[in-house]
Amino acid sequence: MPETKEYAKMKDIYGSLVFDRKEMKQRLPKDVYEMLTAAIEGRQKLDSGIADTVALAMKDWAVSKGADHWAHWFHPLSETTAEKHAAFLTADENGNPLNSFRGKDLMQSEPDASSFPSGGTRSTFEARGYSAWDPTSPAFVIRSKKGGTLCIPSVFLAYDGSPLDLKTYLLRAMEAAESRAMKMLKLFGNRGVRYVHATVGGEQEFFLLDRPRAQKRPDIRFCGRTLVGSPPPRDQKMEDHYFGAIPARVLSYMEDVQRDLARLGVDVATRHNEVARCQFEFAPKFTEANLACDQNQLIMETMRKMAREHDLRLLFHEKPFKDMNGSGKHINFSLEDSEGRNLLKPSTNHRKNVIFLSFLASFILGVSKHFGLLQASVSTPGNMYRLGGNEAPPYIISVYLGETVAGMIRAIEEGGGSDVASPDKNTLNLGLPKLPDIVAFDSDRNRTSPIAFTGNKFEFRAPGASQAMATPVMAILSIWASGLEEFINLFEKRINNGEDPVDAAIETIRKVSKMSRSIRFEGDSYTDKWHKEAEKRGLVKANTIPQGIDLFMEPSTVKMLGEMGVFSKKELEAFHTIKIENFVKNIEIEISVLRDMVWEGILPAISKQLLLEFSSCEIAEKMGAAGIDSWKKVLLHLAESKTKLIDLTHELSELHEKMGKMTAREHADEIVNRAVPLMNEIRRVADAAEGYFSKDNMPYPNYRDLLSLSA
Ligand code: ADP
Ligand code: MG
Repeated sequence: MPETKEYAKMKDIYGSLVFDRKEMKQRLPKDVYEMLTAAIEGRQKLDSGIADTVALAMKDWAVSKGADHWAHWFHPLSETTAEKHAAFLTADENGNPLNSFRGKDLMQSEPDASSFPSGGTRSTFEARGYSAWDPTSPAFVIRSKKGGTLCIPSVFLAYDGSPLDLKTYLLRAMEAAESRAMKMLKLFGNRGVRYVHATVGGEQEFFLLDRPRAQKRPDIRFCGRTLVGSPPPRDQKMEDHYFGAIPARVLSYMEDVQRDLARLGVDVATRHNEVARCQFEFAPKFTEANLACDQNQLIMETMRKMAREHDLRLLFHEKPFKDMNGSGKHINFSLEDSEGRNLLKPSTNHRKNVIFLSFLASFILGVSKHFGLLQASVSTPGNMYRLGGNEAPPYIISVYLGETVAGMIRAIEEGGGSDVASPDKNTLNLGLPKLPDIVAFDSDRNRTSPIAFTGNKFEFRAPGASQAMATPVMAILSIWASGLEEFINLFEKRINNGEDPVDAAIETIRKVSKMSRSIRFEGDSYTDKWHKEAEKRGLVKANTIPQGIDLFMEPSTVKMLGEMGVFSKKELEAFHTIKIENFVKNIEIEISVLRDMVWEGILPAISKQLLLEFSSCEIAEKMGAAGIDSWKKVLLHLAESKTKLIDLTHELSELHEKMGKMTAREHADEIVNRAVPLMNEIRRVADAAEGYFSKDNMPYPNYRDLLSLSA
């Protein structure tokens, strides 16, 4: 097929703004390049002696790409990204202009930490923190209209060394999982493996709206979601009719996003199979976990910037619209060794398949013990409205394997060794080369499960679209590390007793699979039946988001994260505090915006509509029109809606005031137990009134206007 012009262009620009290995190799002396790549691959600690050389090469490269500033780029605990720009340009001793960027600038920087949340790990008088270069994620240039900034991926720490960012915890969890995975491979006798990396691919869902229309709504502007309004009835059916094709302006937006991301070395494919109208998805090609999390931040930033240029309003909120599909961020993950082998890939080779099953069983074992951490990692304000709805996974963690792999595990549990039954063919010998290729089974996908094995990777579907990936990925990898640790202990004992590794592994898989049965569920996770069953199995530890956040502090989780070297108890306490505070802050904003919208828009609209209807109804009555009663009912309904809304918003304001005096944790519970139900009731009454508004009296663009993307 002849390449299209666009495609050729994409290929030319791909990675052009990344200081990648190719650039490093070209611009660095051989020995420096070797030392740097060894550090990147985790084979050796970074030698600070090479910093000046790397900095010089990086600066020259960045300047050639139009950069005039540099910044350490990091992920504060508030889940966004931050950077503090400094100019390359300085003056030398004679006052002549000079582009300068030294090794110590590259290695470390000192942004003011006072404006970032710390959860109490840092005393208020100690405002300083420092960011330190993370060489495992490549530097890149973000271009602006007049110049550009060299961004250096970094960790961000307080002066006492406690992390003030998400990346540090992620890197620790990666180290925990990767080192244990290496050990596992060594026990199987794989001596040649140099490293194992976690791989991650995050699918990003989002909504796009017409910006001028969307910005007329305070809820969209300040909360990224609608607080009142609902789709017209039977909307589902209208959807195909009106919204079948992607509007041209969205396509052009997507192309621009993809092009800018390609320059940054992010390879994204678009998906147009949106479930809801105005909803879309970007899926980047998976890569090493740390880079994947950085790339997801870049994707979100690029999308935000580009949306403004296209006069679009981009929503990452987990539940922007009532009664419509919400947005998630499915996190696909696996482990890959230095030979490029995916360790979650089933194989027709007996030994390789046993290795695959060992990694799989270790993960399931970890989840069966520490599922609370996974739940905690997705306990965000936005997910409160999304999870457990009928289009998103439930707020209960379970693992789905699919018939083929579940069948293998079952067969091993029932005593099978080399001869393991398969559901398709009565007996299927894992050791026989004639085994059908089990990688390509796509049919038995279960879309209702929060964690599903999808052929050669797991997919965690509970994370919300607006979340940074670092926290759920940290949870996944810590849990996998702890499962590997336990597996390895049993496995190693057997090997030390002289057992053949493959036999020893099968015995260990049998044992740990029996131990972790309760977390496996192959059925429909949306049903009430499963909720009851999960309760019986002890899988329901939290029913609300604050309770879910509390699971970070479950004693078994604190212990595990300590043992895995990911969080100290003190760090976890701070993390927990930030999550609770963030939850409260988020919903607090919603409460005040909702109150304002009712008073500024909806109540006056009801009065206007009442006046309009009342005077015409009076005339009609004087004329002796028949059936006037139904008209009067509408009037009465509007009047009663108004008084109800007045009372309910008063109640909400009082509650708001009362909550302000509580501790953050009490406040969070009160939000769930009282404020959210009250907000729902306000919405119900407001939406019922909205149905009677004339177009002129509509205070805000309604769902129909909002969800139409034609120019
Ligand atoms: P699906 O149909 O299951 O969504 P895709 O092949 O479209 O599968 O992949 C979805 C996401 O999973 C993509 O971002 C992809 O790069 C990622 N992915 C695929 N294989 C792996 C892997 N081994 N490790 C991590 N992520 C992966
Ligand atoms: Mg998927």
